[in-house]
Amino acid sequence: MTTLTLVQGDITRESADAIVNAANSSLLGGGGVDGAIHRRGGPAILEECRGLRAGHLGKGLPTGEAVATTAGDLDARWVIHTVGPVWSAEQDRSDLLASCYRSCLRVADELGARTVAVPAISTGVYSWPMEDAARIAVETVRATPNAVAEVRFVLFDARAYAAFASRLACSRT
Ligand code: ADP
Repeated sequence: MTTLTLVQGDITRESADAIVNAANSSLLGGGGVDGAIHRRGGPAILEECRGLRAGHLGKGLPTGEAVATTAGDLDARWVIHTVGPVWSAEQDRSDLLASCYRSCLRVADELGARTVAVPAISTGVYSWPMEDAARIAVETVRATPNAVAEVRFVLFDARAYAAFASRLACSRT
């Protein structure tokens, strides 16, 4: 049974088996969580990402999918990179956001990761409304069978933390 926990803070300071990165499909770095992970994790992560791009991910990582690399200097064994959808008012991309969480859990299972730290995917540059993102994140992790002991949502600010906390409380049965 997976325990869902919440902390407010910088995900690059967390200690976990795997840390999830809200990457972009290039896998070659960006802003937000992505920039922070590459900065603190050091060049080994980017080097492995480049290797993936030179190999089976030549066109980049598709939205909703996930892939693991080393965690470099982070206090983790792996970074699991996933690409969230850009929020759209015209098109319902909820299943792609849910797919990010499902894909990360599947990769975590394949790796044997027992603790996984996860940011609020798509809620930064990709503009997904926080309350809805929290609903999708919590519902999807709860509904996805997996062997991860702890999924720790790491929320950068008080607003994100509050959105996840209220969603966690209301989905508890
Ligand atoms: P996306 O492109 O998927 O929207 P971002 O990295 O821009 O990804 O933002 C995702 C969420 O992560 C946002 O809520 C943002 O505030 C948060 N965030 C940014 N930096 C960090 C960090 N170092 N640790 C945890 N969360 C972070």
